[in-house]
Amino acid sequence: MKIQTLVAAWLATTLLLGAAPAYAQATAAAGSLKTDWFEGAADCSAVVSAPQIEVHAFNETTYILRQSLCSTFEAPFMYLLIGEDKALLIDTGGVEALSSTPLADTVLPLLPQKDGSQMPLTIVHSHGHSDHKAGDAEFTAHPSVRVIGAQLDALEAGLGFTDWPNDSTRIELGGRTVHAVPTPGHHKTHVVYYDEATALAFTGDFLLPGRLIVEDTDTYLKSAERLVAFLNDKPVPHILGAHVELDQAGALYDFGSLHHPKERGLALGKDDLMALPARLKDFNGFYAPYPNYVITHPMHMLMVVAAGAGIVLMLVIWGIVRFIRKRRG
Ligand SMILES: [Zn+2]
Ligand SMILES: [Zn+2]
Repeated sequence: MKIQTLVAAWLATTLLLGAAPAYAQATAAAGSLKTDWFEGAADCSAVVSAPQIEVHAFNETTYILRQSLCSTFEAPFMYLLIGEDKALLIDTGGVEALSSTPLADTVLPLLPQKDGSQMPLTIVHSHGHSDHKAGDAEFTAHPSVRVIGAQLDALEAGLGFTDWPNDSTRIELGGRTVHAVPTPGHHKTHVVYYDEATALAFTGDFLLPGRLIVEDTDTYLKSAERLVAFLNDKPVPHILGAHVELDQAGALYDFGSLHHPKERGLALGKDDLMALPARLKDFNGFYAPYPNYVITHPMHMLMVVAAGAGIVLMLVIWGIVRFIRKRRG
């Protein structure tokens, strides 16, 4: 091979290899993340102006919403993605408003007009725990809003899954495609959403900077492997979960705390996902802390505590019986 041919081949290879990730990154719309969410308070009754819901525009068509720590200790995040024809809201939070509609009043005005009326909105959920769907009822009176339930039959009918949890589906918003990837393990109908427009992955409670609460370790592992396989060759600038439970030093807030001083940022990186399958394989079944999240199986921990309490109780009873026998003897 001539030297010119070698140089041409090297140049072509370098340009091709170099161009691929640059092109992939260039297709994802950029945006900004908010770093100063309301930190709640130890005594929320003393807070004069706690926001119910905070809204941050990641970009013009992508909104990050969060319920206040003074409204619910879960302070869940929700995501609004706007396409050319339709909008998609992922989760409706943990507050069931009885006499008002704070979430609907926040979300609906963000929707643009389409053909002279408000753009249709589809609501989906990361999963069926109540802190992600409590606001569904706020939207039932709106004919242009479609709520897809979080149960398996609703997901199959509404999102078109035919081989749960092995297939993924696409939600078309008009010039914007969002993929829905089944990820049971924390909850049996958990779904992760991947938005092609921003390359953001919305991971609900499956992956977040806080407690990864395992319901079924083997199922969680298979989901992590499936998600890694799905996202492996795609750009993922940020992974956005549904809660933040770590401070900037990496310490967990107490469960149920309404106060998150010096809270860590919401976003995890692709590396945090890539490391997850191996960490779940190594999981001791109880508690495993890592820098950006803690893998925990509360039911197993509870069983150990219950077994420990049972042993202590038996020892106490045995001691009392022995004491009584001795005194009588
Ligand atoms: Zn959950
Ligand atoms: Zn949750």
